[in-house]
Amino acid sequence: MSACLFCQIVNRTIQATIVHENEHVLAFQDIHPQAPVHVLVIPKHHVASVQELERGDVGLVGHLLQACVKLAKEKGISESGYRIVTNSGPHAGQTVFHLHFHLLGGRPMTWPPG
Ligand code: 5GP
Ligand code: ZN
Repeated sequence: MSACLFCQIVNRTIQATIVHENEHVLAFQDIHPQAPVHVLVIPKHHVASVQELERGDVGLVGHLLQACVKLAKEKGISESGYRIVTNSGPHAGQTVFHLHFHLLGGRPMTWPPG
């Protein structure tokens, strides 16, 4: 059994509030939301971070972004705006080492990030 938290969400060993799924990606609510909309969009197969993406994953990145845009529309934040973030490595504060895009919206956000 995989020790990876998000792989366990993919295979339903750990419960999550799933909001979208297709052949390539899974999306679920972040357990500690930082905005009214805070969804994590992940590949169904294990990739540790964007840094670990391989040539064959080019299409996968499109599927991940397409899911983010679709969810932004469904969550009603397309017009107000949103942020898509991925943290890679220690300086970015990555805590879960299975690639994920944070989709954040529903409130104004500051720039630059902390
Ligand atoms: P990172 O810090 O790696 O960019 O983001 C990891 C995200 O995963 C955090 O926003 C954190 O709240 C979320 N998270 C951590 N553990 C769980 C969990 O068990 N379930 C869900 N749904 N989200 C989690
Ligand atoms: Zn994983």
